[in-house]
Amino acid sequence: MKENIAKILLTEDRLRARIAELGAEVTRDYAGKNLLVLGILKGAVLFMADLIREIKIPLSYDFMAVSSYGASTQSSGVVRILKDLERSVEDIHILICEDIVDTGLTLKYLKENLSGRNPLSVKIITLLDKPARRKVEVTPDYKGFEIPDEFVVGYGLDYNEQYRNLPYVGILKPEAYK
Ligand code: 5GP
Repeated sequence: MKENIAKILLTEDRLRARIAELGAEVTRDYAGKNLLVLGILKGAVLFMADLIREIKIPLSYDFMAVSSYGASTQSSGVVRILKDLERSVEDIHILICEDIVDTGLTLKYLKENLSGRNPLSVKIITLLDKPARRKVEVTPDYKGFEIPDEFVVGYGLDYNEQYRNLPYVGILKPEAYK
């Protein structure tokens, strides 16, 4: 697994420190509010598990799954809901928790879809942001790190379902996906 990583972009220590800061921001901004942290499967799972332990106010969490790239490293632009929320969100502030915003297609679709269900608010927190690749306008409300236009894996992010369990974020060697 490690031998296919060209470079470690974000170490465990950097991830931990930044996620503690994000948790403190969310704690401050949502104090006294009914908060639902909505994780997008499967990539956001590790980030979300660490983030919610840094949020020091009551919250609930749930998951949605949407179609993603499959075995390719390119977005198809087609978003499909594979697993939906289990309850209505009309009395709730939704914080969508993503691993990475790349073209923005997934989050644009999700934000519009969720806003249509009349929640109190919909905001986005993402661990990683690749602004160079944006195709549609989506601005995360909270972001961990801006990263260059490289295909990254680890800390929840996969290539072909592999590498999600690496504790850091790394750049995959191009030969590993050719
Ligand atoms: P978007 O719709 O913004 O183009 O893509 C969002 C999804 O694409 C992410 O949730 C993630 O699953 C996948 N993705 C985008 N860039 C990368 C990347 O560099 N590495 C990995 N592993 N997945 C990515």
